[in-house]
Amino acid sequence: MAQIKLQNVEDYYEIGEVLGSGHFGQVRAVLERASGVRWAGKFLKLRRSASSRLGLERKSVEREVEILQSLQHANVMALRDVFESRAEVVLIVELISGGELFDFIAEKESLSEEEAIEFLKQILKGVGFMHTKNIAHFDLKPENIMLADKMMPHPHIKIIDFGLAHRLKQGEEYRSLSGTPQYIGKWNIPRVYCLGLSPFQGDNDEETLKNIVGMIYEFEEIYFNQTSAMAKDFIEKLLVKDPIERMTANECLVHPWIKPLTRKQAANRSRSSINMKSFKKFNAKRKWKMSFNMVWACNRLFRLQLQCKSRSQEDPELRQCESDQEDTETKPASLIRRRLSSNS
Ligand code: ATP
Repeated sequence: MAQIKLQNVEDYYEIGEVLGSGHFGQVRAVLERASGVRWAGKFLKLRRSASSRLGLERKSVEREVEILQSLQHANVMALRDVFESRAEVVLIVELISGGELFDFIAEKESLSEEEAIEFLKQILKGVGFMHTKNIAHFDLKPENIMLADKMMPHPHIKIIDFGLAHRLKQGEEYRSLSGTPQYIGKWNIPRVYCLGLSPFQGDNDEETLKNIVGMIYEFEEIYFNQTSAMAKDFIEKLLVKDPIERMTANECLVHPWIKPLTRKQAANRSRSSINMKSFKKFNAKRKWKMSFNMVWACNRLFRLQLQCKSRSQEDPELRQCESDQEDTETKPASLIRRRLSSNS
């Protein structure tokens, strides 16, 4: 387990602007006082008591820390330090300033399969490394694939957010329904689509889940007409129900679409391209959904606070619940989202 410091994080780091927020809290830019180096601080609110409705269990935070510590890889966000106070844990991690990969791609006019493969290879290397340590991320989705610096000629991928990650034990089955519908692999294998569209995509989340469970997918000509046969073969080899038959991340890296064996295969990749129209549409829809979820979570939190208040007036033992509300005033939506997602 990581050496968690009990000192005040602010003695060592100056806390800066908010970079993002998630289910569990905020991520802020921080400046290391001693060196002047910029990092990111992930502030995770701890659950105060077993009966509390808000915050994270300490053991979940410990798991995230332990997993991040064991994952030192160029394509995985690095953990530098951990601080704990009575109410929260702060993870000091490397600052990833290039934004989300999908936003970077969506700004482009065109993208060949060859260019997309350069990103995919880095994701596969990161995922392959995790799997050698028996760690499954369980929440691989566009929001969690970031770029170290988007101004670089060949931007470097960083996989973030190990809040749902688990170290799997031999012979132990892990079942979870947490995650995001389009990106859930029913058999616990993440599926990454760099082609702009999920072949499982339904009209709503329910239909998408039904398609995944039933393995109902198709490469609709209208969307996939610019996609090479090798790319489709690559995807099909991932959409295999039996995990033993399915390509592993390391096998993906030697599939001829990723590592062509002949000149003809290599030429096919540079001639085929990503359907940017559907990619941009997909990305805009994804962003809209993220904003919608945030508003929904805020409303839900507000309702919970009201419920809590009226119940605590009737029952003094529920005062603990009310005391949690004070903490939510500074970081509202983030706290409730993880609970909702892990219970869904
Ligand atoms: P989620 O709700 O997706 O489970 P979470 O609470 O676990 O989120 P993260 O996904 O780790 O939090 O981070 C939330 C957001 O903060 C990210 O989507 C990203 O925009 C930003 N972020 C996270 N880590 C970093 C980092 N190291 N550098 C810069 N920004 C970051």
